[in-house]
Amino acid sequence: MMKVCLLGASGSIGGQTIDVMLKNKEDFDLVGFSVGLRTAFVSKILKKYPNVKHICVKNKEDMDSLEEKYPEVNFYYGDSGLISLIENCNADMVVNALVGFVGLAPTIKVLEMNKICCLANKESLVVGGEIINNLLKQGKGTLYPIDSEHVALAKCLAVDNKKVDKIIITASGGAFRNLTRRQLTHVTPEDALKHPTWNMGKKITIDSASMVNKTFEVIEAHYLFGYSFKNIGIMLNYNSYVHSLVLYRNGEYRLDCGKPDMRVPIKYALYQGLTPYKTVVTKDLSSIKGTEFGVFDIKRYPAVKFARTVIKNKGTYGAVLNAANEVAVNAFLDHKIRFTMIEKIISLMMKMHQSISHPTYEDIVKVDRQTRETVNYLIKEGGIK
Ligand code: NAD
Ligand code: MG
Repeated sequence: MMKVCLLGASGSIGGQTIDVMLKNKEDFDLVGFSVGLRTAFVSKILKKYPNVKHICVKNKEDMDSLEEKYPEVNFYYGDSGLISLIENCNADMVVNALVGFVGLAPTIKVLEMNKICCLANKESLVVGGEIINNLLKQGKGTLYPIDSEHVALAKCLAVDNKKVDKIIITASGGAFRNLTRRQLTHVTPEDALKHPTWNMGKKITIDSASMVNKTFEVIEAHYLFGYSFKNIGIMLNYNSYVHSLVLYRNGEYRLDCGKPDMRVPIKYALYQGLTPYKTVVTKDLSSIKGTEFGVFDIKRYPAVKFARTVIKNKGTYGAVLNAANEVAVNAFLDHKIRFTMIEKIISLMMKMHQSISHPTYEDIVKVDRQTRETVNYLIKEGGIK
């Protein structure tokens, strides 16, 4: 029986992780979880897992009222509460389904404690990929991605990782795939939240529309599998049926296919890569039935170039990319900036940045804070046009 702590239990990935765990009750038990601001989930999850004794929420006031209602449970709050939750709940495995920068410190903590981390929080790798890989190299903890593309790549590479020419991440194209760049100027948050193939949390849905999500996934793939930027490709796959693929030097492709359902990669991660699966091998992608591929045009989606900067220069570029994006996405959702400004803001902040090589966690926190302050100031003053 694997004792699981679930961070972000109230979110899209969190909820689907609970679905998978409930279907496999003989293998997984929940010993702790966090819900952020969505405290209504505490009672819902406790009904399914009444023995949980460790829960983290975002605010102290919420914690105080929950403590009265559930005196037998240990409650924690805030960012430090996430760390205390991990330290105290005695889990073997932590599923990190938090969204954003807040996920980095818990990922580091889980590995430092030599536990298994199932990572949906891709921002952890974008921002702290070097720190995470250094911990893994030192033999601290183990890491399994939950992102569907990376699970697909892990599956294909587990079958054959020799003579690889490229690993290729598939992209649906997001909510605006049928628009030109010019047409993007006037799109609204409501338009951007309509993803054509996946039903996900708000931030990743906007990231999918802006292609920052693929930018993140290229960086994530680099840190997970060790390929350089030029050996990581992107291909459009309109119905998200092919989750990703590997191209070998003999011209053969190996693909992971199936209908889009995040429970499949979540299950693969929870079982530490030991669930059975089949990959498809072909030299001719047009022979794959029920799906269609398109060429990924970097001119249409220039945000992906940020991945090159982060992978080639490392340092604190990932922290700037992520912080600028988080602030810009929130401003867009609040109708404060146009959609096309997200990319402009990131570009400006990356150009201005003086990177710190081999950053410590503290360096990253500092760069994250400074970037947020600058972007907030620029947005408030209307300084970016
Ligand atoms: P979501 O918005 O649905 O859920 C996010 C969770 O994080 C919630 O439980 C929320 O309470 C918690 N949270 C947010 N801010 C917090 C804070 N400051 N402190 C504590 N908790 C906080 O997001 P999601 O779609 O489930 O995505 C989670 C992660 O998984 C993201 O990194 C995303 O990129 C990645 N991911 C999601 C999908 C998907 O299908 N949803 C697919 C692949 C990867
Ligand atoms: Mg993905």
